[in-house]
Amino acid sequence: MKILIATDMEGITGVTTWEQVTPGHAEYARFRRLMTQDVNAAIRGAFDAGADEVVVADGHWNGSNILIEELDARARLNTGSPSPLSMMEGIDQSIDAVMFIGYHARNGSPNAILDHTWSSKTVANLWLNDILTGEYGLNAAVAGHFGAPVILVSGDQTACAQVTELLGDLETAVVKQASGRFAAECLAPQVTQETIRLSAERAVVRLSEGNMPAPFVLDPPITVAVEFFTSDMADRATRVPFTKREGTRVSLTLPEMVSAYNGFRAMVMLASG
Ligand SMILES: [Zn+2]
Repeated sequence: MKILIATDMEGITGVTTWEQVTPGHAEYARFRRLMTQDVNAAIRGAFDAGADEVVVADGHWNGSNILIEELDARARLNTGSPSPLSMMEGIDQSIDAVMFIGYHARNGSPNAILDHTWSSKTVANLWLNDILTGEYGLNAAVAGHFGAPVILVSGDQTACAQVTELLGDLETAVVKQASGRFAAECLAPQVTQETIRLSAERAVVRLSEGNMPAPFVLDPPITVAVEFFTSDMADRATRVPFTKREGTRVSLTLPEMVSAYNGFRAMVMLASG
């Protein structure tokens, strides 16, 4: 059994501010260590339950947050950017299941730490075939394209609820109770790491028992629609060929999910420019 751990940072233990997840800020060094520890807890749980291989994708910012010198040595790390599949780098047909560690809710969510969708300055809303979603939905659909279900999510209560609502009854590890975008009641790392380890272990056991939601597979063609914050962002996004525009909403229809993922990334990169 081979597991991909797809990571982000906003849903890591203790995180409540942008400074904590932004390279260059004094607080960042502490939280990249905590991120590494949350990821290690998931790696331990996966191996405890009998996984043979674990691959990690460092999915936040420039993809170089996890401290490789402190990473569980049984795992391999996809780091750096841009990489071909970004937050899902490492996914392929050989992956049996995906775990989301440190995930956050989609933009506009109440009671959600650092809620945003891919780019907090650019993307107001995202739809995949008319389903309003966040990064979790986009990344789950890429996993689904390769036949892999998402079996665990860690983050605040709102992120875990949104992922469960979209994907079904997977394992969740709630590491904090958000009461706003920048405020939460946080559990200590000793507590959250044990929760993540146990949830990862249960997730792999349930997967081997056939007791997990199916992979998230969207019916092709895939329409990815993005509502941008301003019209100049939409102006730039429409430079991607074959886009359609209504107001600040720009959409693109492509035959399969990996192209749709890259089309989304291209639109957001241009819009952010
Ligand atoms: Zn992030």
